[in-house]
Amino acid sequence: MDSSDIAFDAKHIWHPYTSMSQPIPAYPIKAAQGAELIMADGKKLVDGMSSWWAAIHGYNHPKLNLAAANQLEKMSHVMFGGITHPPAVNLCKQLVAITPEPLECVFLADSGSVAVEVALKMALQYWQARGEKRQRILTLRHGYHGDTFGAMAVCDPDNSMHGLYKGYLPPHIFIDAPKCRFNDEWDKSDLLPLEQQLAENNHEIAAIILEPIVQGAGGMRFYHPQYLKGVRDLCNQYNLLLIADEIATGFGRTGKLFACHHADISPDIMCLGKALTGGYMTLSATITTRHVAETISNGEAGCFMHGPTFMANPLACAVADASITLLLNSPWQQTIANIEQQLISELMPLANYASVQDVRVLGAIGVIEMKQPVDTAALQKVFVANGVWIRPFGKLIYVMPPYIITPEQLSKITQTIKKVLS
Ligand code: PMP
Repeated sequence: MDSSDIAFDAKHIWHPYTSMSQPIPAYPIKAAQGAELIMADGKKLVDGMSSWWAAIHGYNHPKLNLAAANQLEKMSHVMFGGITHPPAVNLCKQLVAITPEPLECVFLADSGSVAVEVALKMALQYWQARGEKRQRILTLRHGYHGDTFGAMAVCDPDNSMHGLYKGYLPPHIFIDAPKCRFNDEWDKSDLLPLEQQLAENNHEIAAIILEPIVQGAGGMRFYHPQYLKGVRDLCNQYNLLLIADEIATGFGRTGKLFACHHADISPDIMCLGKALTGGYMTLSATITTRHVAETISNGEAGCFMHGPTFMANPLACAVADASITLLLNSPWQQTIANIEQQLISELMPLANYASVQDVRVLGAIGVIEMKQPVDTAALQKVFVANGVWIRPFGKLIYVMPPYIITPEQLSKITQTIKKVLS
């Protein structure tokens, strides 16, 4: 890529949440290997982002490459309507085995946001099939579930696109997010807003959707497992569906295979994406119970009304199957515990800086919350100059590195953050 390619990019190509008229710089990356991104000029950046939670095994992994290459020789895609294939069956066998019981019916779709759309549609069709008109979703403030319309409607109403799309988004019910942090002593008053809403409005509510334990893009907040347990109990009490959006937290990121495991609960519907394919390509899964699946299927429509063109894409399924095998055959608990310990010892001292509001670590996630919003473009320039890839947003400088990162590489990241704060 030369400077004319970069100019073309700036003029013609949208980037996520980036102005077309005054774009912030996009750095040219020509390859990626292990825990490093390789820039067009050959400079290497240690990756602190796992490409937004996804590349858990790092980049260019021989086993994932082989899975893709082998599948490519057989077929890269075939429609899923009336057809099935080994990559889908093998992947779904693994998903059914590793997700909490009684989740067992898997819907494969294109991306995280679509997985959330699918989950919301399942909840609506479930109640329709039961002859009840329940169309409201209850969710937490500070949540983030994706950028499509259904997903946007359950994102934090203040800290998202609700204002921009006012009038297009169905009015769902938002309650205050839990305040009790992951390691705090549990305070059951955190559940009061939910108890109150359910006591008043439970007959209108189709489902509760939340990100278990870690609220990601809505603030990188880690809440208490007892809260999640309490939500599950209340869903049981009021006979409501619980949708766990594990798109960011799934596949070990929080130290458990799924964040629901911290509270030892099972949702009625679980959404997976991002690290599902080890970050190789886009794929998502929405997994539900036989009860939900059969109720929907016995309803008026006779089936679940969704069927994307690239459903169960064989290439993506083959890589996802290989990625899960790779994870399960690795000492992932120890690896993530080691990353967590290193993040605690190297990031926690930064809490003493005057500009820092809070530092928190859970599993392979480290967050520095600043007192003031950061200048993303300026900070990114300094990070790149120092050989690390971190993309801050709002008041947050956060890292979630690939699990294969070495202690030296991780130290390079934490030392650079320290240098920036100094
Ligand atoms: N849910 C959560 C919790 C997420 O973090 C994201 C992505 N940041 C999504 C849903 C949407 O996924 P995608 O970007 O693949 O549509």
